[in-house]
Amino acid sequence: MKPRIVILGGGIAGLAAAIGLVRRGYPVALIERDPPPPADEDLDPFLAWKRRGVPQFRLPHGFSARARTLLAEHAPEVLDRLRADGIEEVNVFKTFTPAEFVRPSDDEFTVVWARRSAFELALRRCAEAEPGITFLCPELAGGLSFAQGEPRVTGVRLADGREIATDLVLDCGGGRSRTSRWLAAAGVHVPADTQDCETVYFSRYYRFTPGCALPRNAMLLRGELESLMYIGFPGDHDTFGLCFEVHPSEEDLRPLRNTWAWEAAARSIPDLAPWIDPANATPLDGIQIMGGHHNARRYFVVDGRPVVTGLLPVGDALCTTNPAYGWGASMALTYAFAAAEAVAAHENDPVAMALAYDAATATEADAVYRESAAMDRARIYRITGQEVPEHDRAEMERQRLIAEGVAAGVLSDVELSRAFCRRINLTGPADAVINNPDLVLRAKDNLRERAARPPVESGPDIQRLREIVLTAEPTLESSPA
Ligand SMILES: Cc1cc2nc3c(=O)[nH]c(=O)nc-3n(C[C@H](O)[C@H](O)[C@H](O)COP(=O)(O)OP(=O)(O)OC[C@H]3O[C@@H](n4cnc5c(N)ncnc54)[C@H](O)[C@@H]3O)c2cc1C
Repeated sequence: MKPRIVILGGGIAGLAAAIGLVRRGYPVALIERDPPPPADEDLDPFLAWKRRGVPQFRLPHGFSARARTLLAEHAPEVLDRLRADGIEEVNVFKTFTPAEFVRPSDDEFTVVWARRSAFELALRRCAEAEPGITFLCPELAGGLSFAQGEPRVTGVRLADGREIATDLVLDCGGGRSRTSRWLAAAGVHVPADTQDCETVYFSRYYRFTPGCALPRNAMLLRGELESLMYIGFPGDHDTFGLCFEVHPSEEDLRPLRNTWAWEAAARSIPDLAPWIDPANATPLDGIQIMGGHHNARRYFVVDGRPVVTGLLPVGDALCTTNPAYGWGASMALTYAFAAAEAVAAHENDPVAMALAYDAATATEADAVYRESAAMDRARIYRITGQEVPEHDRAEMERQRLIAEGVAAGVLSDVELSRAFCRRINLTGPADAVINNPDLVLRAKDNLRERAARPPVESGPDIQRLREIVLTAEPTLESSPA
């Protein structure tokens, strides 16, 4: 008999898992606390879709090439929908690499340029078109039910007290999913590794003014002023996001939450100034702020046994990485389709299902967690001036080689550029970027060259930026369109 399946959470992982399961012949009920997207397709979902359950909904997202490849393989109509919605597919590697060096396999670096709202809407509409998916939405899940005396999930309790009996729950509740707490209350411990990302986002989306001549590729900007990093995110429908990521100890930069201080900071940085010039772009909304980011890896299989059956953690509920690296959505899709596969392979054997899912996902979840946490430690040691402890030195050297040695070759060395693109796009294992000894030598040469070159000063230093932010005067804000 087919298992009764409930998906808890209808974000990226939940929608993809629902599509993956229904395609394999499993009807599902999907519980999502937020309301559905507005029916009026003319409304911009970025502003019109109310997503309290996804605090990052209006914060910048870039979708790695892995996400596009997974959709092409498992749910191509999501890509069709994105295309029909006018969303661009872009291969920056191919754009910047001389044609004679481009190989057919470089198509693997093609990405979609979309805001989170457009990407998720495409997934949602495709899921809605599936008669096998029943949406319980808006509906808040408030707990789980368990079999008497054994760690086996038998139902989901809704916040209003109703219960939905089920054989399997896919926990797609995101990084803030309450499932681990519900399990703990039932005596089931889910071990976890966590590491604070120590970063706060202050971001804003804009729309290009018609006829704006700024080259869209140049939007992929990234720069660092000690404790502050800035990143540009190309979006859909002539939009783009700009984000400051700031270390939480930077009290003087907290006024960045105010439009006038944020704009003063952006105006003072030559890379950013043209993008916020009212002649070129108009803001879509106010400053979006989000802190409290953590890397987290939760272990639902310990010593070769599932800690609970009837429950598979999918997406951020299984593993969360620092959003700055842009891996979360593609890993959510990876886990979602792997979960559907494990269900299909072991529909009536919950232990075998949990083990198969773990076998399909654990190595990669471990790798992205390790890499994300290590990149964060490298940044945190640098910003806080802490001495790198002995046990972390080799790893920090490795991270430096990737972040500086490999990245420095992106525009001058096709193989280093490919290695770099593979890492950021997760088209190969996250930790494999410098496994090739020849590339390691070239990356080391780059490090030596960099060290010998005087730093290029452009724009304010961090102390000057603090002053600019602290002294920025409230102005008549450029109001969102
Ligand atoms: C600031 C920020 C920027 C990011 N930028 C990027 C990026 O550039 N690229 C990238 O790939 N990733 C990025 N990410 C990560 C990405 O957003 C996540 O990895 C991805 O959304 C994970 O998908 P998910 O489905 O697991 O969780 P979510 O997308 O968070 O979805 C969880 C869903 O579960 C619902 N839910 C939760 N609890 C309940 C409940 N009790 N009852 C009912 N419904 C519930 C929520 O409402 C929500 O819809 C970013 C994250 C943040 C925080």
